Amino acid sequence: MGEEKRSMSTTEQRVAVVTGAARGIGAATAVRLAADGRAVAVLDLDEAACGETVEKITAAGGTALAVGCDVSDSNQVEAAVTRVAAELGPPVVLVNNAGVLRDNLLFKMSESDWDTVMNVHLKGAFLMTRACQKYMVDAGFGRIVSLSSSSALGNRGQANYAAVKAGLQGFTKTLAKELGKFGITANAVAPGFIVTDMTAQTAQRVGMDFEEFQAVAATQIPVQRVGRPEDIAGAIAFFTGDDTGFVSGQVLYVAGGPLN
Ligand code: NAP
Repeated sequence: MGEEKRSMSTTEQRVAVVTGAARGIGAATAVRLAADGRAVAVLDLDEAACGETVEKITAAGGTALAVGCDVSDSNQVEAAVTRVAAELGPPVVLVNNAGVLRDNLLFKMSESDWDTVMNVHLKGAFLMTRACQKYMVDAGFGRIVSLSSSSALGNRGQANYAAVKAGLQGFTKTLAKELGKFGITANAVAPGFIVTDMTAQTAQRVGMDFEEFQAVAATQIPVQRVGRPEDIAGAIAFFTGDDTGFVSGQVLYVAGGPLN
């Protein structure tokens, strides 16, 4: 009992930042990490939109703070991370989850489709990680998880997105090598098909009803269902645990089966 209490209070002192946490995978991850005892900064473009996730966490007895920030803007990132440190405590767990799609076949892909996806996923993860790592180094403890995707293996209509999701795997492995000596791990979770607004947007692009789109996708997945945000939150929770400090530089595909 005493042992359990001591480890819980250690966990409670640790602060996690989840980007893109107003909805989808980020929201489920914020809720899960709070349930695991972290104080959670729920960060998204629009601070007001973070309210629902924050309420869910506080209603369950957890601690959460809504933070508005565009992860692709270095000034906003510095200000947001400084605010988290001041109001919640040093951010030592970071989940780089914020994301956007600008899908198109290569010959129709605009320069702005390319730049937007690069800036949010790759530059955003770089800026957030750079801003948080000093707190992790000072604490001698850190957990960084970045969202890759099954699209990292290549996906029609997603040259920009596949490039950033593969890029995040290289980013993760490099962080693991550079930061390991400070007690910091870096890992990537690569989801398959997860039901969120993002996949609803894809269904719309290919002109399919979202329910039908899910049903067709499920037939291709060994567990015969599509994924839920909570499926990904569970994998992220594993990598951010206090007891997984020897697991680093890994990419975990969470797709209901192996990918070809
Ligand atoms: P989602 O439902 O579209 O949520 C993404 C969140 O990120 C939104 O709340 C969005 O805010 C926020 N965001 C976008 N740009 C931002 C920025 N510049 N700064 C801060 N926040 C920003 O997406 P999701 O499906 O949960 O996906 C989450 C992550 O998992 C993404 O990295 C995605 O690429 C990855 N992933 C998803 C799937 C899937 O099947 N769903 C599969 C593989 C990988 P707004 O609402 O204001 O735009």
